[in-house]
Amino acid sequence: MIAPRVPPIGALRRAAAISAALVLAIAVAGAAPPAKRKASLVVTGGTVVTMDAQRRVLSPGAVAIVGQSIVAVDTPQAIAARFAAADIVQADGAVVMPGLINTHGHAPMVMYRGLADDLKLMDWLQKYIFPAEAKTVSPEMVRIGTRLAALEMLQSGTTLHTDMYYFEEEVAKATKEAGIRGVLGQTIIGFPVADAKTPAEGLARAERFMLAFRGDALVVATVAAHSMYTVDAETLKATRGLAAKYGVPLLTHLAETRDEVDESMAKHKLSPAAYFESVGFWDTPAVAAHGVHLSDADIAILLRHRVALSHNPESNMKLASGAAPVTKSLKAGLAVGLGTDGAASNNDLDMFEAMRQAAFLNKLSEGDPTAASAQTVLEMATLGGAAALGMADRIGSLEAGKLADLIVVSMRSARQTPMYNPVSHLVYATRGDDVRTTIVNGRIVMRDRRVLTLSPGAVLADARKLAARVRAAVEPAPAQSSVAR
Ligand SMILES: [Zn+2]
Repeated sequence: MIAPRVPPIGALRRAAAISAALVLAIAVAGAAPPAKRKASLVVTGGTVVTMDAQRRVLSPGAVAIVGQSIVAVDTPQAIAARFAAADIVQADGAVVMPGLINTHGHAPMVMYRGLADDLKLMDWLQKYIFPAEAKTVSPEMVRIGTRLAALEMLQSGTTLHTDMYYFEEEVAKATKEAGIRGVLGQTIIGFPVADAKTPAEGLARAERFMLAFRGDALVVATVAAHSMYTVDAETLKATRGLAAKYGVPLLTHLAETRDEVDESMAKHKLSPAAYFESVGFWDTPAVAAHGVHLSDADIAILLRHRVALSHNPESNMKLASGAAPVTKSLKAGLAVGLGTDGAASNNDLDMFEAMRQAAFLNKLSEGDPTAASAQTVLEMATLGGAAALGMADRIGSLEAGKLADLIVVSMRSARQTPMYNPVSHLVYATRGDDVRTTIVNGRIVMRDRRVLTLSPGAVLADARKLAARVRAAVEPAPAQSSVAR
């Protein structure tokens, strides 16, 4: 054993005296190093996929955050030199990227996940989903369902979700509780539903909701017309008017199935996109979900009115609705975001899987493996979604001045090894479970897989309890002679 070398006391005193003199000399000369700026959080050491205008990838890179905003994206050394961080997230072995933006969904429908699969759309809707909704949609169901959806979303890297459902104020409260963003539309539909007997009642409720959450830091409160086949022309106009009045994006479903187009042609002699145009529905920024069956003329209509599309490949495949003309829409100049749709037709809310399926579906439908490249699909899930929602100046990329919505995604599994190209891995080899840390609006909502905003045990227990009521609602009462289960 070698004794540790301890300098004699005299030497220490001399050293202290010299350094004190040095500090004094620097102060007198005015040459003190500039004080570091305080950062509330620095994420450092990972491969930073910025999605900025140059699509820079910094390996390694770092992101400095002050409050809700990103203030710098640079090398770890440059960030360390400029900022004193109150908190540091080490991202070694991981990709740091913008949070994923889900542009279409029905969060509370996670409660109907796996309730009925492998059915024709109308059987599925009329025998299972509508009866289940008629008997179980309530503020409590929406609250429990949205908490479950928000837990799944923040665990899989979604930092903003777009929603169309009922009792939307409960969706908003649960979204805020989870600490993620929402563009949330109170649904307007032409028949009596749990939260409104008439469309007029629904519109009044929507306006109260929009006023209640106006100016919220996380929630954009808006209104959603369910579709052109469930809402009459007068109500469509009133819905558009409400979104325009508050300057929020109008939400709807568009041309999801061949039947929708055929019925529209038979009834109005117009395609769904043309019918919406004829009633002035597109005269305000809107996001249309699906757009599976769009003609070139329809795409021209959407472009003329700057209508954005939400592409939902998994729902479209599961319900055999078809493949949306994504490449054509992008080439025409439409903003195209990516969505999961509700969990009843997906059956999960994993945006990594949505990216992978978007690439595969579009390659297959176009008979072209160069279609929907990894880069294109990653853009749809980040910047494209931000543009579709009219928020591209605030989110969708990692740049100074943008809001701090970012995720740390582990790249260390066997499935992700080796890594030559992070963008390829994010789309083709990564799953939601690989997300380690999720940051929204500068706040860490999940850190190293530990959820900090919701209590996962309680969220899951509440959902399981409610599921018993959902099951009872769709199962016929057992006959006298039925076998006990
Ligand atoms: Zn939908």
